[in-house]
Amino acid sequence: MTTTHNLGYPRIGARRELKFALEALWNGKSSEAELQATAAGLREQNWKQQADLSFAPVGEFSLYDQVLDMSATLGNLPERASTHEGSALDEYFRVARGRSPSDTACCSVHAGEMTKWFDTNYHYIVPEFSADTSFSLNADRILEQLAEAQSQGITAKPVIIGPVTYLWLGKAKDESDRLALLDKLLPVYSELLEKLATGGAEWVQIDEPALVTELDADWKHAFVLAYHELKTAPVKLLLTTYFGELRENLQLVCELPVAGVHLDAISAHGEIARLADWLPPHKVLSLGVINGRNIWKTDLNATLNLLEPLKDKLGERLWLAPSCSLLHVPVDLESETTLDAEVGNWLAFARQKLQELSTLAKALDEGRGAVAQDLDTNQKAIGSRRDSSRVHNPVVAKAVSAITPAHGERKSPFNTRAKLQQDRFQLPAYPTTTIGSFPQTPEIRQVRKEYRLGNLNQQDYTARIHEEIGYCVEQQEALGLDVLVHGEAERNDMVEYFGEQLEGYVFSRFGWVQSYGSRCVKPPILFGDITRPNAMTVDWIKYAQSLTDKPLKGMLTGPVTILNWSFVRDDQPRKDTCLQLALAVREEVQDLEKAGAGIIQIDEAALREGLPLRQSDWNTYLEWAIEAFRISANGVEDDTQIHTHMCYSEFNDIIGAIARMDADVITIETSRSAMELLDAFKGFEYPNDIGPGVYDIHSPNIPQTAQVTDLMEKAAQRIPAERLWVNPDCGLKTRRWEEVIPALEAMVSAAKELRAQHPQIQTSARELAAAAQ
Ligand code: GLN
Ligand code: ZN
Repeated sequence: MTTTHNLGYPRIGARRELKFALEALWNGKSSEAELQATAAGLREQNWKQQADLSFAPVGEFSLYDQVLDMSATLGNLPERASTHEGSALDEYFRVARGRSPSDTACCSVHAGEMTKWFDTNYHYIVPEFSADTSFSLNADRILEQLAEAQSQGITAKPVIIGPVTYLWLGKAKDESDRLALLDKLLPVYSELLEKLATGGAEWVQIDEPALVTELDADWKHAFVLAYHELKTAPVKLLLTTYFGELRENLQLVCELPVAGVHLDAISAHGEIARLADWLPPHKVLSLGVINGRNIWKTDLNATLNLLEPLKDKLGERLWLAPSCSLLHVPVDLESETTLDAEVGNWLAFARQKLQELSTLAKALDEGRGAVAQDLDTNQKAIGSRRDSSRVHNPVVAKAVSAITPAHGERKSPFNTRAKLQQDRFQLPAYPTTTIGSFPQTPEIRQVRKEYRLGNLNQQDYTARIHEEIGYCVEQQEALGLDVLVHGEAERNDMVEYFGEQLEGYVFSRFGWVQSYGSRCVKPPILFGDITRPNAMTVDWIKYAQSLTDKPLKGMLTGPVTILNWSFVRDDQPRKDTCLQLALAVREEVQDLEKAGAGIIQIDEAALREGLPLRQSDWNTYLEWAIEAFRISANGVEDDTQIHTHMCYSEFNDIIGAIARMDADVITIETSRSAMELLDAFKGFEYPNDIGPGVYDIHSPNIPQTAQVTDLMEKAAQRIPAERLWVNPDCGLKTRRWEEVIPALEAMVSAAKELRAQHPQIQTSARELAAAAQ
């Protein structure tokens, strides 16, 4: 029998039950016991859905984050969270969120840092280390889940994060070498493995995804040390890698003394044969042949073509699984009763992916005939997608192949454009603006909801949004901002809004994927060639502009961000999909320009997220991502000012690429790091205008004028003041008007002060530049 297993299951629940249970506890509306009961119910359901597998995962179920769970298991929660009374769960949430349900205002501590889990959209809590970190085992949680699964008749395979990846994921606060902690860490892992064996586990899945990244000699050596130390453990270890190719680490993986290796056969497809050849004959090879990161049906026949010879070669040593934890896909396609039927037939969510796995195993064991019906249905779905005219639009293919370098070029260089734009807009020095959205009040959310439900007709809806735009413009005029925005009241989400208006997208109702803690996202599904049947934003922007004499900035989401925040096609390279999106955004930009918008912002909030895991692959990505942005932005006249926005501060390593975007103005996040980011500009002379964020919109704190001037003076040490803009870090939609008004007042008055203090800067960079020509 072919062994099947799963690496992890979504824990949030098909109806986000865990989210609501967590939030009820945090809001004091329920008890720990109620939360734990919901969690146990979800685990039971999840295991039921995995009952056909040879092994179901246990211990990967988390109330907040699996890395934080590992820190708790290893006795490595930060000290600061424990110095209070309260339960262990209190302490856990305090690390996750900076406070726990039982804390009063006095007791909050700063939350653990959160960062992206490899190249996914999931965020984990970064383990904290220092030279004198020590570890001690607390295995209760995972042992309880193991016993719980067994009592439900499940053959359980505990899942833990391996010791080297655990260290790799963390940060040493004192800059000490975290690898030096390995010696102290390994005995705790040994103890944990022993306890899991005693608890009845035969196999343990030990996740080491750090093996798909570039490792220096010390890190490679750490793997050798660690697995030689753990090889005497009384359980079989399945060394689990995912999210990429092993490349130069492949041999190391083959040599580590473990009982089996899991390879992500989707992203490391080209390494399957080599691994099957090189792996010593006593080791299991688990192949992740079902994509755990995307929502398309697997082509079962094609996968069997790959697997059958491997089965002949490896026999019982061949195991089958999804490529990675199913955490990254929604739970159950069955929930989607309103989804477009044709496209729905091409999809598989977590539950359906496990069914595919069973079918594959059965076909290997009993021949394809035993699952003829399933294979037939699958083949029809695969064929219908491959041949669908909704997927392939020759007009789009033609437009993409007609792209030339000229599409990405502005007519003139920045200096020339800047002069023309200055003549047109007459902006003062230190121009003030915002990033796009204004507070999304419960009333405005309600308006959108009523419209969506059909309770509000188009005309009434438009009137209500116009009202909101009017209010927003009025407030900005009163504040004295220089470049206004319409406020984005019509947008639920910066990607969904555009996806809904583009051909080639569908939307699920319950397709939630955990982003962090109780937060979920529902990525739109990009299934086909992209076209833009109608203008998407022009009417709103025109209306907003009609209310003011100040320049009003059109507001769009860029192609790279739309791509990175969607489930995208797997039948063509991401680059090709991105170029299609770029052409659609370009049409919108040109329509805005025609409608009189002189300033247009194209947000690329997720540009950095798309960076490949290995730095050696960055250039390839940046090359096409920047090209896509340029295509979307650069088809405009010289006196049209293009802005872009990115809300993160790690710029140093990609600043050259950002400069190549050639936006006239870029607004970025800086206030939290007190302009630290501007270090990126030390070694690199960024050529165009920049607005370093001076208002941290993630915090309820309202900046004072002096703080803003101080931040701007700091910025001026790195960037010529003539090229500085004054703006918040990001959009204001999550804040309340009561906070936003005083914060923007401080911003505007700081800009006025700066102008008064530095009158020479009135001679703007643009004029200087023109004079120099
Ligand atoms: N224009 C968007 C807004 O203001 C940008 C959001 C973002 O960068 N995440 O909301
Ligand atoms: Zn932002």
